[in-house]
Amino acid sequence: MGLWFTEEQTKDLNISCRVKETLHVEKSEYQDIALLETNEFGRMLVLDGAIQTTIKDEFVYHEMISHIPLFTHPNPKRVAVIGGGDGGTIREILKHKSVEKATLVDIDKRVVEVAKQYLPEISVALNDSRAEVRIEDGIEFVKSHRDEFDVIMVDSTDPVGPAVGLFVKEFYQSIYDALKEDGIFVAQTESPFYNGKFIASVYRDVRTVFPIAKVFLCNVPTYPGGLWCFTLGSKKYDPEKAQGIDTKGFDCKYYSEKVHKAAFALPPFAKKYLE
Ligand code: SAM
Repeated sequence: MGLWFTEEQTKDLNISCRVKETLHVEKSEYQDIALLETNEFGRMLVLDGAIQTTIKDEFVYHEMISHIPLFTHPNPKRVAVIGGGDGGTIREILKHKSVEKATLVDIDKRVVEVAKQYLPEISVALNDSRAEVRIEDGIEFVKSHRDEFDVIMVDSTDPVGPAVGLFVKEFYQSIYDALKEDGIFVAQTESPFYNGKFIASVYRDVRTVFPIAKVFLCNVPTYPGGLWCFTLGSKKYDPEKAQGIDTKGFDCKYYSEKVHKAAFALPPFAKKYLE
């Protein structure tokens, strides 16, 4: 039978992958961290038993959380990522030449260190001169900035433990205040198959704070349901009307101009949650 890792995706559903080798296990100040070598997905980062990212499918999530807002904004220069300690989102952000500085704010320094050690393909840009890594609570970081960022991305764990406060209206208001007058916010907001009510409540909160609120989807095989959802709030630019998307030299494997537009086409069962 060999060694298997099983994530409990809901209380009635598990996903399992065969493990070739357990590379690292520890309990940090904030969470259980595991780094596994799997047969199907390659190296896999697991936090508190939940799959965060894998070498095989990480490009989907990291390209979509980054390029949708960055190609919607006409000239993004200052970007912040709340969470995202593996570095994949920073790697995608820095493909945009207009970006002068991208600040990663993760509460757990051990996630950053483990990613640097075991996931060099994902964490590759964390030492770039345009990247800044801060180890602190994203909630406090956002509160202490005003009118500063063009784009803020919330690349967090699920809404449990230290991430709970990243999914509340007060936090969205702090993000609104930390953004410039034409700023854009995006957050990963779980599975439309299993978290419909949660998505509805996040969308409602984001819509009360931002004049433009949209939800978009992508396919991440290792996340619950395989279909993953992001919620975007924008002060000025409508992501569905993004112009002049040019991915030449970006080496994207999932994102494209057509995928950007198509990602906002929600199937009726998911759209229902926004009504
Ligand atoms: N792509 C992933 C997913 O959806 O499963 C998220 C990856 S990233 C590793 C999530 C990060 O959010 C973790 O490293 C965790 O430490 C961080 N995090 C959780 N709560 C946070 C908070 N309040 N402030 C900053 N970072 C936080």
